[in-house]
Amino acid sequence: MSDYDIRDERFRRLIVGHARLEKLWTGARWVEGPVYVPAARHLLFSDIPNDRVLRFCEDNGTVSVFQTPVGYHNGHTLDHQGRVIACEHGGRRVSRLAHDGTWQALATHWQGKRFNSPNDVVVKSDGTIWFTDPTYGIDGAYEGGHATSEIGASNVYRLDPETGDVRVVITDRVRPNGLAFSPDEARLYVSDTGKSHVPGTPPAIHVYAVATDGSVAPKGVFSVCDAHLYDGFRVDWMGNIWTSTGDSVHCYAPDGKLIGRIPIPEIVSNVAFGGPKRNRLYITAQTSLYAIYLNSHPAGWTPPG
Ligand code: MG
Repeated sequence: MSDYDIRDERFRRLIVGHARLEKLWTGARWVEGPVYVPAARHLLFSDIPNDRVLRFCEDNGTVSVFQTPVGYHNGHTLDHQGRVIACEHGGRRVSRLAHDGTWQALATHWQGKRFNSPNDVVVKSDGTIWFTDPTYGIDGAYEGGHATSEIGASNVYRLDPETGDVRVVITDRVRPNGLAFSPDEARLYVSDTGKSHVPGTPPAIHVYAVATDGSVAPKGVFSVCDAHLYDGFRVDWMGNIWTSTGDSVHCYAPDGKLIGRIPIPEIVSNVAFGGPKRNRLYITAQTSLYAIYLNSHPAGWTPPG
């Protein structure tokens, strides 16, 4: 029996047929924001309502508290120097964990107004940091603190960490949430979880064309979720999208077809490739951390040798 739900033959090449879904740990209220830190061989992830960042150590399989309180972190990623970038609901900012162990603010405002609550983040090959800014961290106290949006919209931004320059790149989403680039970075995928606030908003991943000058243009819907909604997702080196849904991880080919699923017994929030070979998919889902080995690895990473 397989832990995979194969919908298209292309999916068979991306999986290890007999690999099992592993439940690595449970005990959170809502986990999100997984990031693999290769130099430490650990995965950091957020337990947002408990205002803590947790750490899964690959060498001994244990989970411990990395930091609490931490400012209600949500999404994380790595920059090209191996530093963790964080989206903070509490601080309503994007920050970076310096090599000396301190969190440094990279961006707090756009046009003089505070961000809502940065949610998810990716780093482009040129070093710029792209992040979404919906309102989930200011809608109430559970995942941050209640506040009124100063910007009055939920946008996607591009941050240049060298200069601090922040530009808005996407303004046509209701609640932009997860985001990732295609392997050639000509496409930016953005999920919209806006049905939480505006009933009828399709729970979709949208495609944007990214020009070489960094400008962004909408190119329509990539896929619509048939299992609650898409939150965070990642792209593998062949351009397949591995995304969270309400009951599973879905894998879409670059043409938008659902080619396979990995059923998960909790609501999935996000995924991240990890392990020394980056072939282990870590899955944050509601109260727990799961993982499964794949026959793929993330975009932007080249296997050694
Ligand atoms: Mg998210």
